[in-house]
Amino acid sequence: MRSTTLDPTLIDQVKSLLNDKNLPIGIVAHTNPDGDAIGSSLGMFEYLKQKGFKHVHVITPNEYPSFLHWMPNNDQITVATKAPGEAKKMIREAAVLFCLDFNGLSRTDQLEKSISGSPAKKIMIDHHPQPGEGFDLVISDVMASSTSELIYDLIAAMGDEKLINQKIAQCLLAGIITDTGSFSYSCNQPKTYRIAAKLVETGLDAQKIHRLIYNTYSADRLRLLGYCLSEKLVVLPEHQAAYISLTQEELDRFNHQVGDTEGIVNYAMSIKNIMLAALFIEKSDHVKISFRSENNWNVNLLAREYFNGGGHKNAAGGKSFEPLKDTLLHFESLVKKEVILTLSTEEDEHQK
Ligand code: 5GP
Ligand code: MN
Repeated sequence: MRSTTLDPTLIDQVKSLLNDKNLPIGIVAHTNPDGDAIGSSLGMFEYLKQKGFKHVHVITPNEYPSFLHWMPNNDQITVATKAPGEAKKMIREAAVLFCLDFNGLSRTDQLEKSISGSPAKKIMIDHHPQPGEGFDLVISDVMASSTSELIYDLIAAMGDEKLINQKIAQCLLAGIITDTGSFSYSCNQPKTYRIAAKLVETGLDAQKIHRLIYNTYSADRLRLLGYCLSEKLVVLPEHQAAYISLTQEELDRFNHQVGDTEGIVNYAMSIKNIMLAALFIEKSDHVKISFRSENNWNVNLLAREYFNGGGHKNAAGGKSFEPLKDTLLHFESLVKKEVILTLSTEEDEHQK
């Protein structure tokens, strides 16, 4: 079982970086932010406010789904695609930058250069495997369910559990819920439930949080899901794989909004005996891919090796710069060659 405390030397280093309440602080999440990226960032934001820091900014590279807009302090987020100058200025002028829920600067897209060029001390807090370079302090734990869980750990290690109010708790619980698929994966550590319990003890309405995240579909989004399942699902049972793809035209037909395709890949994964699922979304200049898998089928390695991406062992993503049709043919050929089984073996050997 993983340790329940963060390295005290690291915590001392964080404390010494946060030695002045007037410091300009930036909190940056990864591109296409998900519930954990927004939850951990806004949880951290409210914590720093509670600590008395006066100049704290949250910056995301691009927009995020509307089912995350309910979180406290959502209006404090600067979205770089909407306000690029402002976002880059905040990053350039920060003394400390918290980099949350990613472990490589390339995950921040158009903000990458501003971050690497900023004189700010960069603190990575993340739970993806194989952390990259470019950070001054690294709090990284692949056993954590989510970055939100690590933010809780950090606050506790700073001796500040008493500062966890409902606003912080709502954000962190949302991050844990979304990154574990409502406690259905990455959730075998008892500690995750203890933290969730502590968050609920603040008096928040956990049922409401679940409703706000999962039960606020538009009719178009639900119809898009139905279309994917009935018309677009491809199952390769002999290779234990299934995938769904969507063209721009199909997305337009269902009046696609940011976040509408979130979670669709999990339906492909829910078929009996399926070990590998993928979702391909046609964008203007690339195809965005989501991968899911079970057990030792390692989609992090598949995404890194073949699709310019990465992520976790059982949930990863990537990009293809080939047309959608060619991308699907490439994926099918990898599936038919059962390439993923060789990748899994290599990483398992590596981890021994
Ligand atoms: P999703 O499929 O939900 O977009 O992403 C699943 C996981 O893979 C998340 O942990 C996300 O951070 C990671 N991921 C998604 N796309 C990419 C990518 O292009 N590059 C890397 N390195 N990770 C990605
Ligand atoms: Mn995460």
